[in-house]
Amino acid sequence: MNRAGSLQGLVVHSGIFIGRAKYQEKREAQIPSRKIKDTELEAEISSLQNSLNHIESELNNILDNQNLTETERDILQSHLLILRDPEIEKELLHTIESLKYSAAAAVHAVYSKICNQFKEMENEYFLERLDDYKDVSRRIIDFILNHGTSEPTIWTDQDIAILEDISPSQVSSYARAGLKAYCCVNGSYNSHASILSRALGLISLVSVENLMEQIEEGQELILDAQEGLLILSPSPEALAFYRKKAAELERRNQLLEVLSSKPSTTADGTKLDLMLNIELPEELDLVLKLNPDGIGLFRTEFLYLDRNSLPTEHEQYLVYKKLAESLAPKPITIRTFDLGGDKLSHLIPGQTEMNPYLGSRGIRFSLSHPQLFETQIRAILRASVHGNIRIMFPMIVDAQDFLQAKTFVKDLMKMMDTESISYNPSVELGAMVEIPSAAIMADELAQVCDFLSIGTNDLVQYTLATDRNNDQVADYYVQHHPAVLKLISCCIEASTIHQKSLSVCGEMASIPRYIPLLLGMGIRAFSINPHQYLSAKQLLCNASQSILELMQGFDPCQNREETEKLLVRLSQESN
Ligand code: PEP
Ligand code: MG
Repeated sequence: MNRAGSLQGLVVHSGIFIGRAKYQEKREAQIPSRKIKDTELEAEISSLQNSLNHIESELNNILDNQNLTETERDILQSHLLILRDPEIEKELLHTIESLKYSAAAAVHAVYSKICNQFKEMENEYFLERLDDYKDVSRRIIDFILNHGTSEPTIWTDQDIAILEDISPSQVSSYARAGLKAYCCVNGSYNSHASILSRALGLISLVSVENLMEQIEEGQELILDAQEGLLILSPSPEALAFYRKKAAELERRNQLLEVLSSKPSTTADGTKLDLMLNIELPEELDLVLKLNPDGIGLFRTEFLYLDRNSLPTEHEQYLVYKKLAESLAPKPITIRTFDLGGDKLSHLIPGQTEMNPYLGSRGIRFSLSHPQLFETQIRAILRASVHGNIRIMFPMIVDAQDFLQAKTFVKDLMKMMDTESISYNPSVELGAMVEIPSAAIMADELAQVCDFLSIGTNDLVQYTLATDRNNDQVADYYVQHHPAVLKLISCCIEASTIHQKSLSVCGEMASIPRYIPLLLGMGIRAFSINPHQYLSAKQLLCNASQSILELMQGFDPCQNREETEKLLVRLSQESN
């Protein structure tokens, strides 16, 4: 097939999607740059006011629609607040009257200034707000210049969204609005936006060069997110080829579904635990369909996304209870909030940190916000009587760090005793191993906790000093680096000696290339993202002694070249 006329990118979530390009924002309308004359002043001011009034009533009309989701409602309401912000209105009038800007130029200047100030703050909350300000500004300018409608972007299931970037909250709001596929100029495989895209099944490609330059609004596209290709204006032959391929993929997925009822054992009978990673309670239906051996990681911080208020103890309790009851007696591993890094919630804006990934993140953040932590732990403990709940702490440095978190839980248990609130007193407490120190000190850590789970996403980032979200250093983000494998080996050894369960819940456990390697090294529990679960299960259930034989005498701490050769041999063996 002719592959001319295609762009390449990095697959975030694979699949085939045929649709039409849709931009999130219209490209900038031509804004007049000349200064206005005094005689034009009145007309420009009334043009501004007309546009603000018109957009306000338009937004209110949309808000009257009962079918809006909570997320859409929140977004529209925040747009109304921005639109009618008195400070901004004052600044707009000043820019027209004193600086003699046209209404459209004033909107552009004032909103650009606000956006630049937000960018300089380097705070995730303000960065996420940027899109809202840009959106409102675009609507006003479009209305003034009569460049089309001022409607917000409404995604349909035929669209392929064409974006510069995407944030975790945009991923969830676009998916809820019906979007099925997107392509971005920027992005990386292990960012939280990508993890969430996989969880929500959004077929997606990131890091696509020249995306904005090459694609027109409405252009027909084929997103081949298997090969990492975006095919522009495909020929009839290409369309026929891909329709067939998409149907085959669908059939393969149906065949894989049979696997969900099979036990998790390798071909030669080794018992495995194949669990799921989830981010949102809405994933429960999919979880039940996949029938995993448990939830190995519930990233609870995503409960904060798209909300204007913190989830209360009762709200959290209901979410945890429902999960626990639905999967009982299988384990549900609830990871306490991992806020910080690229998940700094807008609801708890803190000090801007120079290095958020090395700052107040994970368990450090929770321990320094005791009220927030208490709300979550109480909710989990209350839910613990409804099933098999385990609590896991993120970003643990060492045994001492873990013990602080454990003490916090034990103190709360005592408090709940005085209130006669029931909970499971032997709820298991575990540590994530995602900081190299925790892996190096795994022997000590394994003695104080009930279980360990390796978070390879951060473990790789911190071991190799390579930002997991930064596409420019992607070549340094080597998950099979001997240094990383050495740390994984430390955990396997410690968990074996102290007989504590150990799983891998980072993305490595979902990547077919790494699954046989982890199995051969001794990992028996995998926590996998839902959309890769059945293929991973198939790979693991087909694995046999030959994988272990290939690994005989393999020292994971050897050089990278040897590991790479082994990876090739293992994947040949597994296919
Ligand atoms: C990890 O770091 O591997 C992990 C599972 O946690 P997260 O991706 O949420 O940081
Ligand atoms: Mg992590």
